[in-house]
Formats: sequence, C-alpha cells, structure tokens
Amino acid sequence: MRLLSVGSVAFDAIETPFGKTDKIVGGAGTFISLSASFFVKDQGIVSVVGDDFPAETLSYMQLKGIDTKGIQIKHGEKTFFWSGKYHNDMNSRDTLITELNVLEDFDPIIPESYTNVEYLMLGNLSPHVQRNVIERLPVRPKLIAMDTMNFWMDIAMDELKKTMCLVDVLIINDEEARQLSGEYSLVRAAKIIREMGPRILIIKKGEHGALLFHGENIFFAPALPLEEVFDPTGAGDTFAGGFMGYIASTDDTSYENMKRAIIAGSALASFCVEKFGTERLTEIHTSDLNLRIHQFIQLTNFEMNLL
Ligand code: AMP
Repeated sequence: MRLLSVGSVAFDAIETPFGKTDKIVGGAGTFISLSASFFVKDQGIVSVVGDDFPAETLSYMQLKGIDTKGIQIKHGEKTFFWSGKYHNDMNSRDTLITELNVLEDFDPIIPESYTNVEYLMLGNLSPHVQRNVIERLPVRPKLIAMDTMNFWMDIAMDELKKTMCLVDVLIINDEEARQLSGEYSLVRAAKIIREMGPRILIIKKGEHGALLFHGENIFFAPALPLEEVFDPTGAGDTFAGGFMGYIASTDDTSYENMKRAIIAGSALASFCVEKFGTERLTEIHTSDLNLRIHQFIQLTNFEMNLL
C-alpha cells in the first residue's frame, strides 16, 4: 500500500458569514484521503465512526480508490461531531461543539493488508493514538508526516513531544508553531521545533501560503488569491493530503519534489475553501487541478536581470 492516513471521519456543522450547514460529512481523515486520491490509487485510512455515518460516503471513498477497511464502525455509538463558527475575516473561528463520541476511546486497529505501507500521514488526533499507529506498523514507512493542533499542546504536551520524535515531517499553522516553540519569529520557531524531532517542518499561513523548512533550505509557496472564500474548514487537511499524496505517488522525498508537493497541496486546498465541507473536492477533476497548478506557476514566475 502506498499511503495510509489516520484521522477523524466526522460530522461537522459550520457557520460562516455566507451561510450555515446542518450536519455534513467532515473530519481530518476524510479531507486528507479525498485530497490524496487525486494522486494515489492505492491508499487506506484508519479511523472510527458510529453506525449513524452514511454508508454512501464510505462507498464514495471506495470509488475514489480509498480502502475503508480500516474505518471501524461502532454499532450503537455516534460519530465524532464538531461544530465551528468563522469570524468575518474567515481566518479565525470558534469551536462551538466537540462531541468526541467514538473518538473518546479510539484504539486504531491496522488491517493486515495495510502493514507494509510506504507513506504515513497522521492527521490531527490525540498524539497517543498517533504514536500507537507508528508503533503498530512492523516496518517503518519511508516518510511519516503528522499534523497536530494547539488543543494537544495545551493538554498533552509531553505525549506530543514523544510522538514528534518519531516523525519526519510536522505540518502545523503559524499560531501553533509560535505556541510550540515560544518564539514569534517563524524562522527561530522552526529551528526550535526541528530540534524536537521532525527534520522537515511545514508552517501553514492560511491565505498567506506555506513555508517549507528542509535542511538548510526554506521554500515559500503562496496561497492562490481567490475572489471568494466560502468555508475554510478542512483546508489544512486537504493541503496535507495533497502534499503526502503527491510525495507517495512520485515516491520521491527530495527537497525539489517537496516543493512540488507543497504546490499540489496548496492547489487542492484552494478548491476546498470554495464550498462547504468536502463538496468542492467531490466536483473537481484532474483537468481542473492541472489548470490551478498552472495558475500557481504563473503567480510566482518572473524574470529579472541582476543589477
Ligand atoms: P481544519 O479546518 O483543517 O482544522 O480541519 C477541520 C476538521 O477537523 C473538521 O472536519 C473536524 O471534523 C475535524 N476536527 C476538529 N476538531 C478535531 C479534534 N479535536 N480531533 C479530530 N478532528 C477534529
């Protein structure tokens, strides 16, 4: 198996200045695997849902080449539910409700057919569960990436540090990088965070793009300037899924390829925010993605003679 993702498969209820949804399908694992499916045809997901989760969504994921054997279905229990409300600037949000439900005592069980996985993407979950997955794989994948959030820094910093030691790539946003390092400068923050374990660090800056710290190099990718941002939920997960999906499909972990993977992730994230939840990701095709990648190339390409 090329890629294994671990993360929540959930119901979300979202409120933005543009509208409001009832319970729709969301979850970090859902966004990651759908995004990666644009590149990888051989991927699996480890997660858990209740028996209230729609069978059609699981069928749709299978149609996209995602093996859903690793999603445990807990009978008589409810799926994880998260609700959030965005402020007018669409950059910040308040969490209104978090009902852990089946995630409360999630024990990630890895199906036999997943154990030879080459690339691992650990979506935002308890660092203890993330570490369990790494330790349950008999052979270490070629590259392990993880996402996390301030919530885990607040309540489980020691666990988080233990898990961070085991991964190659950490993907977090600027606010989280500052909290984790205690440094405002992102360059200084990156140095401190990389001393904690991950040799590669990606700092997402929302509508201001993303930074890649790799060896002595720093690469910056902008976000595509969009006329309308409708719902940013899942953009970070979509970015991570696109990044790891691209790396896994090209089987190349070099710095040059990671730059391309960042653009792939950014292009997919730019679609994600155009509609509520996963809707836009289910509408687009490879041709749409190619057009957008081309726009990214145009956006950053220039020639200049040195003085
Ligand atoms: P993002 O916008 O990239 O931060 O991701 C939003 C997704 O993360 C939503 O679809 C939620 O279902 C999911 N989510 C929110 N809080 C948590 C949590 N504590 N654990 C796992 N997944 C979460």
